[in-house]
This record gives sequence, structure tokens and C-alpha cells, in this order.
Amino acid sequence: MVRHFAASAIRNRRRSVHHSAKKRQDRLQRDDHKFVWHPFTQMEEWVQEPPIIIEHGDGRYLVDIEGNRYYDGVSSIWVNIHGHRTRALDQAIRTQLEKIAHSTLLGLSNVPSIELAKQLTKIAPLGLQKVFYSDNGSTAMEIAMKLAFQYWQQQGRQFRRKKKFLAFDMAYHGDSLGTVSLSGISLFHKTYKPLLFKTFRADPPYCYRCPMQFRYPSCRLACLHPIEATLRDNHQDIAALVIEPMIQSVGGMITSPPGYLKAIRELCTRYDVLLIADEVASGFGRTGKMFACDHEDVTPDLMAISKGLTGGYMPLAATLTTQRIYDGFLGSYDDFKTFFHGHSYTGNPLGCAVALANLKLFRRTKLLKILPKKVCTFELALRTLKSLAHVGQVRQIGLMAGIELIQNKQTKQPYRLEDRIGHRIAMETREHGLIIRPNGNILILMPPLTATHNELKVMVDIVKTAIQSITRFRR
Ligand SMILES: *Cc1c(COP(=O)(O)O)cnc(C)c1O
Repeated sequence: MVRHFAASAIRNRRRSVHHSAKKRQDRLQRDDHKFVWHPFTQMEEWVQEPPIIIEHGDGRYLVDIEGNRYYDGVSSIWVNIHGHRTRALDQAIRTQLEKIAHSTLLGLSNVPSIELAKQLTKIAPLGLQKVFYSDNGSTAMEIAMKLAFQYWQQQGRQFRRKKKFLAFDMAYHGDSLGTVSLSGISLFHKTYKPLLFKTFRADPPYCYRCPMQFRYPSCRLACLHPIEATLRDNHQDIAALVIEPMIQSVGGMITSPPGYLKAIRELCTRYDVLLIADEVASGFGRTGKMFACDHEDVTPDLMAISKGLTGGYMPLAATLTTQRIYDGFLGSYDDFKTFFHGHSYTGNPLGCAVALANLKLFRRTKLLKILPKKVCTFELALRTLKSLAHVGQVRQIGLMAGIELIQNKQTKQPYRLEDRIGHRIAMETREHGLIIRPNGNILILMPPLTATHNELKVMVDIVKTAIQSITRFRR
């Protein structure tokens, strides 16, 4: 079986650690515990185990300071596209570094930011023509929200009432306070509630646990009716609807049924509400197309991109928008319609240079053309998980997959969060040479897009083995 091959190959590479290397390893592990506060991590638990410390990367592999190799099964938290140490991307950074590492876009421009903006408008959904840079997904979404809000304020008259947003439950748009207001994951966000603004809410199209108890396709997307009702009754007060197109990732890898996104676009148009697409996770081929919006030929009014933009190399983000929104900010200086927003590293040349190289590599390797076959292999491999006693549903689009673990297949009873079932399985996959990071009861697999057919199969196989060995000992 492929798995045994992979696991033993990885084990064999475990090197006996040289004495001074061992000292260095101990020092790094101790200092990590002493000085580093890790994101989304209970540090009391973290400091009880020596961490895996990554030293370098190699294609789809991560290599730790002991020389152990692991598949990067979540693309280093969804950012990596072509693999690590990709020659063309490494080189793009070196070449730019010999010119300049950073200069500002406030009052100046720089070469890579201009070239990248032009390229982005070529590949983005038709009609997105203006590019506003920032440095992470949360800032790109904050910018989208502020642009939407200010746009309506500057339209004047009755439009000045449009101050609120409509967002989905279980959505995730970032960790800054504005984006947390939009997000709907109570575990992460309930603490901050007193700091947040009020947002209209919609149920996500979570077909496995349909809140309306319908089945697709006989439901004929009945879940759109309450959203339409909210828009009909409140559109005078709503600036924008915010969506993670095709898949709500952090919230549980919830994929939307065909036609859903297109229908949301039509509703927004009908009720004069802007559509903000959060393509931070779904952009750059991850769903099998360049952008998730491309699956249903949708052009949002604002689109946030970040994670895959630089191929997973540098923190860079952008908010793309239409001529209509852009024009809403024009006027003489003393109209004060300027968009008063910017960051220290807005349009960073190193980031833009590697993003340009990323797009070039998409073209050169015809990545979007060869993806469908890989997606097919991935899907076939994932199907083998469906028969497992504790797998409720496997949801997938492109090379993004979520595996919902459940206590009881008949009743769909979920595991309790404190069972940490996803976490335990993820720790088990490490033993077989695969790094994944789950979200609660949802295992997430999101390999780099250059993963080979065999690598995709092996990764799924490792996940399968780990699910079996962990769930066997639990009810
Ligand atoms: C990761 C993510 C964000 C936030 O991006 P950061 O770079 O972590 O701030 C926003 N939206 C979605 C859909 C994401 O996956």
C-alpha cells in the first residue's frame, strides 16, 4: 500500500541526531516555550510538549530541525501554491532585493505594485479594475468594508442610511475587530462582543445540517428566501452582503450548492446592496479555478485576496473593486472624499514581485489546465473516507477538503469540542509524516496545488489511517 511506503520512507529518513545538533534543538525548543506566544493556541498545553520546529521546505514537504520530513497538508495554513523553495519564486525575491526591498505608495509609486495591479485586473472577475493593497486577509477585508461604507455615505441622500452589513453565520473574515464583527464563529469571537458592531445574519448553506430540514436539489435553494426577506425588509440600511464564495472555510469547509452564489449576486443587484467576496482562502486556484467567483461567473463589487497571492511567500493582500466604487471617491480635495486608509507596507515591492512571479508560474505551468485531473484524483481518494463509521460528510471543492467527524452517523451527533477529536487525529497524522490543522470536528486537507496524483492519494490515505486508529478507541 502507498501509505506504508510513505510512512516507512519518512521514518527511514529520521537521522540520528548529532550531539551539537541535539543541543541546538533543545535550546530552540526551550526558547520557543519561553518566548513565543503562538496564534490560536492554549499556551499552557503547548508548553507541555516539545514543538516541531521547521527549518526548511522542499516542494510539498516541510523539514524540521531533526531532519524529519512531513507533507505540508494544509499549505502552511492555506497560503502555499507551488510548493516550498520554488526556484522562480525564490529568484523573483532575490532579483527585487537587488533593486529595493520597500518603498511607500503614499505619495510615490513603485514598479512591481503597478505591474501586479495590472495583472490582477486581467485575471480577476470581469469588471474589477482597481487594486488597493494591504498586507493580510483581515486588512483586505477591513478595506472592503470601509470602502463599501464610505461609498454609500458619499452617495448622499437616502443612501447614507446604508451603514450595516449582512454576513453569514459560521463565517470567518479575519481577526481584526471589524472583520470579527462580520464573522460568526462564537468560540473565537464571543469574548469581544461588547467591542463589535451589529450585523444582519444569514444561515450558511450547510446542506448536511440544513436548518430548514430540506434536501438539495429538491429544496430549490429555499435557504435563499430568508436572505431575500432580510434584504427586502432592510436593504435601505445595508451597505453590503459579505460572502466567502463557494466555500466557508474556517467555519467548517461548508461548500455551497450550484447556483447559490449566482443567486446571491442577483439578490444584491436587485436590492442595491454591494457584494463583498472574501476570496482570501479560495483565491488563486485553490477551488480549481483562479477565483471561486469564476465557478458561477460572478463579479462582486469588492473582492479581498491574500493567502495565495504571493504563492505563500510574503504577506501581501489586495482589495479589488469596480470603476463604480472608485468613482464614488472622486472629487476635489476639499470634498474630502479621499479614502483615508493605508499601511506602512502597502504595495511592498518584494511582495508584489513574488506575486508577479506566482502569476507567471500559473501561466508557464498551465496550472489551471492540469488542475481538474488532480481534483478528480483527490475526490476519488476522499470518497474512500465516506464509509468510515465516524465520518459524517466529506466536503470538497478543488483541492480544498473538509471531513466532518461525528459520534453517530445515524443521528449526526457531533463530537463535543472538549473531545478534541480533530486535534487528536491531526497529531496522529504527524506520526505518518503529514501535517494538518483541523478546526474542531472538521479535518481540513488543503495541499499545495503542485501535489502529484500519488501525493494526494498518500495524504488522504494517512488521514484515513489516523481517523481509524483514533476513533476506534472512542465512542
Ligand atoms: C485567512 C482568512 C482571512 C484572514 O486573513 P489573515 O491573513 O489571516 O488576516 C479572512 N478570510 C478568510 C476566508 C480567510 O481564510
